[in-house]
Amino acid sequence: MKHKTLSSCLVLIATVGTMAQVCAQQQQDPTRTITSITGDLYRAQNNAHYTVFLVTSEGIILADPIGPDFATWLKAELAERFDVPVRYVIYSHYHDDHASGGDVFADTAEFIGHENMPVNLAREEGNESFKDVRAPDRTYSDRMTVTLGGKTVELVHSTPSHSDDSTILIFPEERTVFAVDFVSARRVPFRTMGGGPVAPWIEATAQLQTLDYDILAPGHGEIGTKADVDDYEGYLEDLVAAVTEGIAAGQSLEELQQSIMLEDYQEWAQYEAWRAENIQGTYEGLTSSEE
Ligand SMILES: [Zn+2]
Ligand SMILES: [Zn+2]
Repeated sequence: MKHKTLSSCLVLIATVGTMAQVCAQQQQDPTRTITSITGDLYRAQNNAHYTVFLVTSEGIILADPIGPDFATWLKAELAERFDVPVRYVIYSHYHDDHASGGDVFADTAEFIGHENMPVNLAREEGNESFKDVRAPDRTYSDRMTVTLGGKTVELVHSTPSHSDDSTILIFPEERTVFAVDFVSARRVPFRTMGGGPVAPWIEATAQLQTLDYDILAPGHGEIGTKADVDDYEGYLEDLVAAVTEGIAAGQSLEELQQSIMLEDYQEWAQYEAWRAENIQGTYEGLTSSEE
């Protein structure tokens, strides 16, 4: 779709020189939306990244700030729509593409993350990609409850998988969870999933399913239900079972990528793009853990 826009812009630039600036603007404009999940809980989008926020009479509880530009846009939108300040920013995990931009809310907000987050950020010191990630003011180890304006958010440390500092945000009244990068709805995992063992991802998903909720608001892709997370766990299990079987039969990675089609999931987002890499990551995780 981007390419189509680009080529039509190029034609316009060639024929009407003054359109060049308009086209450049169109190319750069990010997709940003705010949609209602339920009650006073909302989902905000910056292209492929999503966060959530809960509006209360005393202020807003925001999850990931996503980036400085998005956070600046969001701050203005929140001021206009709700007229209360962001009082908490709660990080899903330390990765810069989700955690950057917190400084925008530092005038009114307290920052909360899992206790492993500052450790992970310290390791990234000097890494330019992490320069806009503001460290949490407060950390927790297993669980934490945040209340504001009579509303509640529960923080639960997720079993280490995608990262070791992942927080699941539970909105009990809204029966919704916000969970990022280790789980999604009707969408296959990202590329090679880090190339480590997949078993911890299955454990993290199983842990998520022990929680009481109806709606999954993930950090990427469509919103889903608890049943979608069951299906996601099923995908991971099918993936591991098929790759394990293929390795036992002496198949190479290339052979596995050609034979394991995971047909039940072919309608899922990113199936075409990432199926082969999912197999690669699973293969690497299984073969390296055998050593
Ligand atoms: Zn991540
Ligand atoms: Zn992500």
